[in-house]
Amino acid sequence: MLKYSSSKEWFEIIKYKDYLYVIRERLDEIDPRFYTTYTNLYLLIGAHSALLIDTGCGLFPLKSIIEDLILDKILLVINTHSHFDHVCGNHEFDNIMIHRRERRLISKPRDIAFLRDSPKEIIKRYENSGFIIPPTKEIQPVTDNQVLELGGLSVKIIHTPGHSPGSISLLTDKNELFTGDTAHYGMMYLTKAAFPIFLTSIIKLLELCEESNKIEIYPSHEEFAVGKDLLVNLSNGVKNIEHIWDTRKRDDFLEAWLLSDENFKYLIF
Ligand SMILES: [Zn+2]
Ligand SMILES: [Zn+2]
Repeated sequence: MLKYSSSKEWFEIIKYKDYLYVIRERLDEIDPRFYTTYTNLYLLIGAHSALLIDTGCGLFPLKSIIEDLILDKILLVINTHSHFDHVCGNHEFDNIMIHRRERRLISKPRDIAFLRDSPKEIIKRYENSGFIIPPTKEIQPVTDNQVLELGGLSVKIIHTPGHSPGSISLLTDKNELFTGDTAHYGMMYLTKAAFPIFLTSIIKLLELCEESNKIEIYPSHEEFAVGKDLLVNLSNGVKNIEHIWDTRKRDDFLEAWLLSDENFKYLIF
């Protein structure tokens, strides 16, 4: 007997505000070798349109769950970036927005055979698609500072490269900041060569927090509705990595260096 057999069992749906749902998946139930417990998808609901932020791991149908929440509103879907844990449900939707620098990555089928030897039985569900992420049907590239109007709720796109070249964050006019994988507690995935670009993005987000001290941060992994301490700690932590570099350990599955400090774990490629 599989532990999860339907979308309702798999997705945890949290109505966090009148207009904001958190839809959680257990990444550790797919493969604990990512050192990450939760992936957070978010659904923002305006007067006439709704915005789904990321489509998750694609193990169970997501679209029907979203439709039940938004009823007859127009649905927009955006990817914070193209990593598999954020885009595998894209094929269920007609049109996906993503930063132009990662457009190509979701336009073609992609292999996720690295999941085959996960110790979790649930990954057998990927056998139906041959461990291939289906290509996204229609892609609409987005740019820095673009604003999406949902009706009484608007969302600004902020390009925050570093974790990946086309990573974006999203800021609502009600002070929710969605940071994707650019900033979250738990295991941060970073490329050493991109540290300067990454730190510039964190500073960009910190400046937004300075403009409005009411900002709450909603990352794509682990805890959500955290304060700007996340960004301060992350900026300090990444700057300090060179000082703890000698404590690194090799992770053979992810082929990266593993480090940690009091706030974060880091996987450095
Ligand atoms: Zn990622
Ligand atoms: Zn991720």
